Amino acid sequence: MNIAIVAAEVAPWSKTGGLGDVCGALPKALAALGHHVMTVAPRYKEYPDAWDTGVRATVHLFGHTHEVAYFHAKVDGVHHVFVDHPSFHRGGIYGDSQGPYGDNLFRFALLSRAAIEAAARVPLDGTPMGEDLVFHVNDWHTGLLPLYLEAVYRPAGRFVNAGTVLGVHNAGHHGSGPAHDFAGLDVSARWWPAVDFDGRLNPLKCGATLARKIVAVSPTYAREITGPLGFGLEGVFAARGADLLGVLNGVDDAWDPRTDRHIAAHFDAEDLSGKATCKAALQTELGLPVRAEVPMLGVVARLDHQKGIDLVEAAAPWLMRHDVQLVLLGSGSSALETFFRQAERTWPEKARGWVGFNEGLAHRIEAGADLFLMPSRFEPCGLNQMYSMRYGTVPVVHATGGLADTVQTFDPLSSRGTGWAFKSFSAEAFVEALGWALYTWRTHPTAWRGIQVRGMTQDFSWERSARAYVAIYESARPK
Ligand code: ADP
Repeated sequence: MNIAIVAAEVAPWSKTGGLGDVCGALPKALAALGHHVMTVAPRYKEYPDAWDTGVRATVHLFGHTHEVAYFHAKVDGVHHVFVDHPSFHRGGIYGDSQGPYGDNLFRFALLSRAAIEAAARVPLDGTPMGEDLVFHVNDWHTGLLPLYLEAVYRPAGRFVNAGTVLGVHNAGHHGSGPAHDFAGLDVSARWWPAVDFDGRLNPLKCGATLARKIVAVSPTYAREITGPLGFGLEGVFAARGADLLGVLNGVDDAWDPRTDRHIAAHFDAEDLSGKATCKAALQTELGLPVRAEVPMLGVVARLDHQKGIDLVEAAAPWLMRHDVQLVLLGSGSSALETFFRQAERTWPEKARGWVGFNEGLAHRIEAGADLFLMPSRFEPCGLNQMYSMRYGTVPVVHATGGLADTVQTFDPLSSRGTGWAFKSFSAEAFVEALGWALYTWRTHPTAWRGIQVRGMTQDFSWERSARAYVAIYESARPK
């Protein structure tokens, strides 16, 4: 199958979060299954491994004709096409310290138009992908691509068999703009209803209306966006009925305790002795007392309201009355960064708060901690809880979105479960779950080992997710 994944972020070239991770990893897994795959993303800066193809296209948008150039790299069997235009060369992906760029609608409409042209024109191993393909667009940024197919290309007899899938990684951002921007999109006025939401131009609504299938990044999130987590578009998502599906993200091979290059010792589900070494190494690295008998609790998160770190703050005084160690890594909201710093000052023997982005430390926390805390308010899929399970680090999560789909609360009677997933978003429910987790860790080591091993042996492979996407792509062609 010919598959074009079009997105604002493709890791490792561009990434601010899960969107970039998925658009980097899913194509690799699809290519490994034998499919012909390309990604199309902006060229935000010079990428040393991507070459100018010499192909150019012109696109009319917002009253001007714009020329784009196409760069190309082939890695792990995947063709990566980068759209080059001056509006992408700004340092940031979506904005800077002043806020989002004012012309994001233009920038991502340009990406969407250019991606369709890429399929027709950019040679991959000699020939372009062609018009018989599935476009997998992602979040609001590329939500207008199905509009261009319907309004511009199909009426001209082009891309008539092309399928369209909208991936929803976060329905909290719609990319909405004023209605008068519609004139800039260069499509016939009769398409206004496809993008109109409450009198504004809404690219996510457009994708959710025109794409043949919609895939949210977990089954629970697919249901949740038909309710309050649709952030206004719940009715639009609900109206799609059986065309709205959920597929869990997979975990990249970089997160594997048998091979991880960031950690002090390797381990697996049969032999967890290396995990004790990782714990001692993490305690040493952070200047905490090196003690095997104290439970270590880890947090790695973007410090955003969504992530519910305020519950960790609320639970901290209770937690710190116990013999525990708490390790916090993250950056973002200044109030939460202050909490990290204060925690370290208030409980110097027990807490560490590392403010910033630190890939290696994130791996060492996943490997060395005993418990991982992820009390997100909402979480489309979430990766860290899956990483934790792979490393035998038992997650305590709020039962929302992908967290609800991946973490089952431990049941001592049936010896089932992989962690604790508390139902109501409150400090009380979080503390209760933490209480059970700490009690089990201290008094039931055999049960704890069972929880770890069940988590470590879950199939969170990208291959599994890729197979689910292929089945959806097959059903996403025009009837
Ligand atoms: P989101 O995409 O909402 O940020 P996910 O759990 O899906 O949440 O993915 C977060 C990713 O970012 C993970 O790979 C996680 O390890 C990483 N990450 C987040 N904050 C940091 C940090 N401060 N340092 C290192 N890695 C981080």
